Amino acid sequence: MYFNDNDFEFSSELHTRCQSFKHKSRSLVRHCRNRSLRHVSKAYTVPCSFPDISASDDESRLCRVRSFKTTSKGIVNRGDSFKKRSTNSLMSAGSILDNEKQRLTSTSSDVSDISQLSTMSMCTTLSIGSSIAPSYYRIALLGASGSGKTSLIRQCLTSEFTSSYETTSHDSDIEDDNTMCVVLDGEESMIELVDDLMLGECEALRVDAYVIVFDVTSTSSFKVATSAVRQLRVERGCDRPVILVANKADLARQRNVKTADIRTFASRYDCKCVETSAALNYNVDNLVVGMLAQIRIKLSPSTSPVATHIQEEDLTKKLPMDKKKKILSLLSRFFKQARRRVRSCENLLQ
Ligand code: GDP
Ligand code: MG
Repeated sequence: MYFNDNDFEFSSELHTRCQSFKHKSRSLVRHCRNRSLRHVSKAYTVPCSFPDISASDDESRLCRVRSFKTTSKGIVNRGDSFKKRSTNSLMSAGSILDNEKQRLTSTSSDVSDISQLSTMSMCTTLSIGSSIAPSYYRIALLGASGSGKTSLIRQCLTSEFTSSYETTSHDSDIEDDNTMCVVLDGEESMIELVDDLMLGECEALRVDAYVIVFDVTSTSSFKVATSAVRQLRVERGCDRPVILVANKADLARQRNVKTADIRTFASRYDCKCVETSAALNYNVDNLVVGMLAQIRIKLSPSTSPVATHIQEEDLTKKLPMDKKKKILSLLSRFFKQARRRVRSCENLLQ
């Protein structure tokens, strides 16, 4: 993902900071990935009959299922399993949406129609998800080159430790399927993680959420990230979930971006933020669950500001004006405090 402000310069700086991470050849990466796939098939017991993944044909039709449960103490990773893609339960609702999108874009080229379409797509996803197939969500990872997007995607796709040095920006020519099934609290969703998109491409691709990655050792990558968030929130008026990811948290001694600055910025632009290390698989599960949780929250009708507004109006309908004002100011103070407590920018589940 390249932004206007000299992103190319950042990439060289970032790569020199990460010299300890070797670049591996394309075939070796493939070998490691295939080997890891077989390893997991033995390690996890799956309730249904487990598909034979020795044949390469079958291997390409398998989809990894990552399962999580949220508890009062945090997220519990319940392990990975595999499912055949061809089964009904994994049918992608996205393809249905894409057809719908094609139909609509062919009848109109107006920009406002495209944004209408995006909103409609989210609603369609919701209705399809509840009846026919798991909801299908597309998430774009944006940020300066070298900030760790590809490494994070690799780690998001599996519970196994991938060691990020196996995946570098030089692997971008590998044809990869960045789709996984995530079961969160018993509800299944398909998630596609899209790497290396331009900001403009995201709208056309019907992106459901944005993950903006930067490298905590590089202030310039933080600038690229903040500029992307501003473009989304201010210039494009995007109301989709945005998660700001402070990656390479393992490089504590070389850190140049303060946690306080990240939090302040995230709160100001209605983003969530999380510190990760793709290299150590630190907080990556939280990111996976957080992405899905944020999309589900956004799609839930109870969180819509219209609903809150109507409820407040109903409450005060029959009261005299002065009492109405008092109650409304008390309510707004109470809700502001509660929101601040519960909806901290670091809590990806709320
Ligand atoms: P991208 O250009 O944003 O896709 O970044 P890459 O995923 O290709 O990563 C760029 C470099 O940073 C690679 O050498 C990775 O091994 C390294 N890297 C990625 N994530 C981390 C991390 O969390 N910690 C450290 N120390 N290095 C990382
Ligand atoms: Mg990359």
